[in-house]
Amino acid sequence: MSPTPFSSSPCVALNTGLQMPLLGLGTYKLCGLQDVHRAVDAALCAGYRAFDSAAVYRNEAELGKALRALLPKYGLTREDVFITSKLGPKDQGEKAMEGALHSWSQLDLDYIDLYLIHWPGTQGLPVGDERNPGNRAQSWASLEELHGQGKLRNIGVSNYTPAHMRALMQSCKVPPAVLQVEFHPRLCQPELMSLCKQYGVCFQAYSSLGKGELLSDPVILDVAKNCKRTPAQVLLRWALQQGVPVLPKSSNPERIQRNAEVFDFTLSDTDMDRLSALDCGQRFCWDPSEVA
Ligand code: NAP
Repeated sequence: MSPTPFSSSPCVALNTGLQMPLLGLGTYKLCGLQDVHRAVDAALCAGYRAFDSAAVYRNEAELGKALRALLPKYGLTREDVFITSKLGPKDQGEKAMEGALHSWSQLDLDYIDLYLIHWPGTQGLPVGDERNPGNRAQSWASLEELHGQGKLRNIGVSNYTPAHMRALMQSCKVPPAVLQVEFHPRLCQPELMSLCKQYGVCFQAYSSLGKGELLSDPVILDVAKNCKRTPAQVLLRWALQQGVPVLPKSSNPERIQRNAEVFDFTLSDTDMDRLSALDCGQRFCWDPSEVA
């Protein structure tokens, strides 16, 4: 296996043999070149080497522009960063090839490191519509084709349930490298996690901070106080210590920096258990369980 190019950032090996940084900057709600530029600048400075975008975030072009402008400032090249984007639900199915190529041209970074089907459903169809599985399969075939051309170095899915994952694993030519789902102490997703392990798919967390709402949870505050860390660092560390890559989002340079300070401490088994005991199936984002 080739050495990781992401020298300042710990990585996980994907089933393609390529590496993905364990820490990435979430970019949902980062809008406009100025905001994106400022956040990317702070993140590169703090050692982030991965960035998570999506067609629906409407910031792919700004992310590409910010990276092209900022990489030289840190002595970095395209190969030093890992860029994720996602196919919008409006392009699920026959428009998938066009949608993915649009992301690719918006980012304008030669290739996309990881491209995900954002959501198992199709915009405009009822969640239970029986056309959803066929549309997903068609999207996956388009992603496989672009992966073969080298435009998408890794391909994967997001918000898939165990049933969606099993169907994909049975029909795919190229298995997904990553499943990105909501994951935090109140939503531990044990079935999906063990399925990913069984299939060799990297399980990646989004909304690790519960969109900010978990930062005032009394148990998380107590663990943070005891280990002299911020609640955000505790939440990120809880995921990382289970081998789960994280994507905290912040637009604030100081918080971006603090959220990256998660590789120099360990939570005790007792603290890990206290946090995992908060699991109650609570979601802060969308729920895919009804999608056919
Ligand atoms: P999140 O990372 O759980 O939380 C972000 C919120 O927490 C923001 O309001 C941010 O505000 C605040 N925050 C961040 N660090 C903080 C700190 N140290 N102290 C206090 N507040 C802090 O939420 P998310 O954006 O939902 O998830 C992260 C990323 O995952 C997204 O940006 C996106 O890239 C990805 N995601 C993917 C999906 C999917 O369907 N695949 C869904 C949701 C999210 P400030 O910006 O003001 O700091």
